[in-house]
Amino acid sequence: MDYPFFHVSHYIDGQFVDRGPRFDILYPATNHVIGSAPEAGAAEVDAAVQAAARAFRQWSRTPVAERRLILKRFAQLIRDHEAELAAIETWDVGRPISENRAGYIPRIAANIEFFADFAATHGSEAYPMDNGYINYVLRQPVGVAALIAPWNIPLLQATWKMGPALAFGNTVVMKPAELTPIGTWRLAQLAHEAGVPPGVINVIHGFGPNSAGEFLTKHPDVKLISFTGETTTGKIIMAAASSTLKRVSFELGGKGANLIFADADLDRAVAISLRSSFFNQGEFCLAGPRLLVQRPIYDAFLERFRAAAANLTVGDPFAASTKVGALISREHHERVSSYIAIARDSGARIIQGGTQPNLPSPFDQGNFLQPTIIVDVQPRDRVCQEEIFGPVVTVAPFDDEEEAIAIANGVGYGLSAVVQTRDVGRAVRLGAALEAGTIWINDFFVRDLRVPFGGMKNSGIGREGGHYSLEFYTEAKTICLSNQ
Ligand code: NDP
Repeated sequence: MDYPFFHVSHYIDGQFVDRGPRFDILYPATNHVIGSAPEAGAAEVDAAVQAAARAFRQWSRTPVAERRLILKRFAQLIRDHEAELAAIETWDVGRPISENRAGYIPRIAANIEFFADFAATHGSEAYPMDNGYINYVLRQPVGVAALIAPWNIPLLQATWKMGPALAFGNTVVMKPAELTPIGTWRLAQLAHEAGVPPGVINVIHGFGPNSAGEFLTKHPDVKLISFTGETTTGKIIMAAASSTLKRVSFELGGKGANLIFADADLDRAVAISLRSSFFNQGEFCLAGPRLLVQRPIYDAFLERFRAAAANLTVGDPFAASTKVGALISREHHERVSSYIAIARDSGARIIQGGTQPNLPSPFDQGNFLQPTIIVDVQPRDRVCQEEIFGPVVTVAPFDDEEEAIAIANGVGYGLSAVVQTRDVGRAVRLGAALEAGTIWINDFFVRDLRVPFGGMKNSGIGREGGHYSLEFYTEAKTICLSNQ
């Protein structure tokens, strides 16, 4: 197998810099070293934040039409390099290239384009008063934004965060996860080529605690933090941000329910459930790993779903037929696998998967796990409550709407849910009753960037998207103008 080698560097003040001890980047499908990246210490983080703060003075005053043009050039370069970025994302994450090409990669450029346009058409408001005075609200950029992303969907994460932050006039210091630094570094190169001014985008690499992540979230000149990752990390970052009262937006873990009612179209329900269970090997905050199926169709659904899951090709992420790739790391593979043992110990049954597939060399060295289906579970079981973040789902029956809602809402998370029914009234009732930031009815992972995205309960704080991003990434300043 021919491996590439990515010599990743930081991007600070318009320069690609190679400071700090280097760490290896492994290809999740074989655990072969495919590159290395430098770890930023306090000095590199400070240099990046200072560069962003200097650039903010100019970028925040750059006419929005000009910012839009620059960001559109950046987006166009992303489009021109989609095939390369699709491959990079697969090297980084181990996700099948087929999933990248089918919808994932086109969303990368679209994230930048959408916010470039949105910022040019949304912003300040004016309210003439009865007494002749005029109140108007100026929307102004906040300052240096720290953008911190997890490893599961790095290119989407980077552009979801950079798009609105930059379009509304902020400058950014982005830290991708240490396991997946390649894509964001490549984006920085494309931004550089597109003429994004020095310091407007900075990318630093490194780890969380006592490393780049912590130094960034504690830096006094960082004004806002957009963080996506685990709930426990969110709590640590919130504490770090509190001493300087930074504004935070958190998108955290999830444990979505997928409710399948007896009147659902069964073929469609199976197809949607395959995607919501196993997209990105199940390493997806928005996944629906708790399948709840109404009793009259429980057996029929389970048999079809099991057969369909058994049919998914697991293996070489670059093979066009592969549907399930590798988990991000050996450590994560062990963590996900430990839940299969926990399920067995609590009396549940594994009716599909549960083991590492037999793959030829070099994929026998990779972090693969068969799509796994667990049944005979109780709602309070750990496998039904905790985020597993892998291709492991539970399926359980329910009798009526009320019971389905109670089980679906009976977890600490509230990020997303899927409802499959042909009854419009029920869809409306479920939409109102489910505790989740996003609810898909008869589909999965379709999103208009104007709508709010975020979670309830332990799944996050705040919303991003459309004018919700405008709220987060700008200061609202009220000016009252007298007519005297
Ligand atoms: P982590 O919380 O471990 O890490 C996320 C990012 O935070 C990484 O860049 C990490 O650095 C960094 N980090 C870790 N500790 C600190 C710290 N003390 N201070 C500052 N930064 C820190 O999440 P994972 O990378 O493991 O990603 C999986 C999690 O992300 C899951 O819980 C998943 O649900 C969640 N997620 C949520 C989404 C949502 O939209 N709600 C979407 C996608 C994922 P490093 O890894 O380099 O050490």
